[in-house]
Order: sequence, then structure tokens, then C-alpha cells
Amino acid sequence: MSRYRLTPTPAQEQALAEHCGHARFVWNLACEQHAHWRPGRKSAPRFAEQCRQLTEARAESEWLRAGSIIVQQQALKVGDVRRLSGNVGAVKVPKVGWVRFRWSRTVPDGVKSYRITRDRAGRWHVAFAAIPEPIPVPGTGEVVGVDRGVAVSAALSTGEMLNAPGLRNPEKARLRRLLRKLARAKRGSNRRGKVKQAIAKLKARESDRRKDWVEKTSTGLARRFDVIAVEDLKIRDMTTSAKGTIGAPGRNVRQKAGLNRSIMAAAWGRLVQRLEHKGPGRVAKVNPAFTSQRCSVCGIVDAKSRESQADFRCRSCGYACNADVNAARNIKLAAGHAVSVREGPRVAGPVHREPQRDLLLVG
Ligand SMILES: [Zn+2]
Repeated sequence: MSRYRLTPTPAQEQALAEHCGHARFVWNLACEQHAHWRPGRKSAPRFAEQCRQLTEARAESEWLRAGSIIVQQQALKVGDVRRLSGNVGAVKVPKVGWVRFRWSRTVPDGVKSYRITRDRAGRWHVAFAAIPEPIPVPGTGEVVGVDRGVAVSAALSTGEMLNAPGLRNPEKARLRRLLRKLARAKRGSNRRGKVKQAIAKLKARESDRRKDWVEKTSTGLARRFDVIAVEDLKIRDMTTSAKGTIGAPGRNVRQKAGLNRSIMAAAWGRLVQRLEHKGPGRVAKVNPAFTSQRCSVCGIVDAKSRESQADFRCRSCGYACNADVNAARNIKLAAGHAVSVREGPRVAGPVHREPQRDLLLVG
């Protein structure tokens, strides 16, 4: 969820503050219901059921009765968003009307819910959560393997290498300057606050670019391929070391900072999550053992085949390839194997959506 600065009029602001109270109650009610939901149970209460329970709650609570039923029910429904100009949008809040916000970045398609919050400084924000509609299966029977790389953000078994955008060089230089300034600035000073703000702005820009990339990439993959195979990182984290050896450097060795690694890990996690939303049941998670050391042509596992971070050269059959692409091909092969063994794509289990994620979360 990315946040956008809301710019309500004073009257809207007062109304928002009031309605937040009611909606928070509704939200809490919904959370309570979901606290009782367990895997294996049929399903969490649906919208109609929630409305019924809300009516009951209203009968019991005078305070809730005094509020607007529309706001309370709307709290369980989708929000309307529209764009007014290049950098101004508006979100329709029941009983408050269209409240403007700064269209500071791309608003995700298919917004299913929004959350309005007020921070300590009294600033209002709106955040949108979109669970995209599943993309129709292309039906080509094509499987793609996707490897999370270091030099490239994602390598495909097709040989394509995708890079998540980061900051441009002048921006990086500016960030370095700001960080130096920050180190020199006195704690609690005005200047320090301003520098921090400028740094936060740059980082938000970087993160927005990555998120855009994740959206485009996941849509593209779900449109082009029937099955998208990725490494099951839960297994991988348990079985592989980040260190590697001289002959077969671990994939994380070259990463300069843990920070960068965690940013990329977050982008990767988001990519897999979006793939699961857009291609439910079409994401295959494969055991990552040896995907970086196995030759995708002859199948030999040889740690010395990994000549460097970027290069794979099989000492047995001579196949040479970008190391990440070779890994992506192994991931594809592993998924194909799983498909033939199980007579159907191996999927990562039923896609469990948080039952109430489609709520308007206010408060
Ligand atoms: Zn080989």
C-alpha cells in the first residue's frame, strides 16, 4: 500500500475525524469475526453477512446507531477514486464527499479498498490496496522459470534479464551528499529534519519505481505464461548459505550492503505475491537445491561450473550461459518435472487471500 497525502477542507476534516471513529468500530468488528476464522472452516463472513451483523451491532450500540449507516456499510466496500488533474486525485468518502489527495505516484489499478489515516502531525493520508483481477491463462502450455538474481533482478528461462529500476546516477549522488550532510547535522536541529525529509523523499521515489516494475513484470509474466516457476525461498533460506565458496560464490556475496539485499528481497517477495494474485494457482514453487550449480542442459551438478557471479560454464558438456539464466532454466525444469509427476501444475497450495482484505480500513 502506498500512501497519498489527503488535502481535505476544514469541514471535510471534521467529518473525517467523526467517521473514522465509526468506521474503526466496524473494522474492529470485522477483525473480531476474522479472529474466529480458521483454515478448514468454510469461509469468513461475507459482505451480506457482515451487513447483517452490523445491523445487529447497531441495535445494541447507541453510539453506533447515531452514526451513518452508509459510512458503516461503506466501510465494508470498495472506494471510488478519480483523477482530477496531473497531480490531484479525489477519493469518495461516504458522507464526506470527494476528498482531494495528491496524486504523487501511480494509483494501482483495481483498487479494492482504501484506508484513511491521520498521523501525529495531523496530516491525513489515504492508502489504496488493490488485489488485481486474475489474468486469464494464455493457454499456451508455456512454463517460465524465474530466478532472483543479484546482477539482474530477475532472470527468465527464456534468457531475458529484467532489472528493477532504482535511483538514477544524479539521484544517487544527491543521496550520498544528503547522507553526508545528515552525519554532520546536529541532532534535533531544523536542518537535520530537512535533510531527513529530503532523504525520505528520494527513497520513496526509488521504492515507487520498484513497485511499478513489480506490477508491470507480474502482469507481463501472467499474460505470457501458463505456469510461472520460482524458487521456494522458504526452503532455500533453510538450506543455502549466503557465503558460498570461491569456486561457486553464493548469490549474495557481491552485495555491498545488507540494506540493498533487504530492499531487493522485498521487491522479490512482492513480485511473487503479485504473481499469485494475477495468476492464482499458476505459480509453482520449486525446491531451489542446486539450481545455481546444475547444468540445465546435461543435468550435471558441479560447483566449479559456476565460474563467476555472472557466468556458468558446464565442465561436462561445455554449455555456457549467464548463471542466473541457467538457474532460471533449472527452475523451469523442476516445475515441468513436478507437472508431469503430479499430472497438473504444481501450485503453492490454494491461494489463501486474507478473507477481509477487501475492506475499507479506516482509522
Ligand atoms: Zn552440461
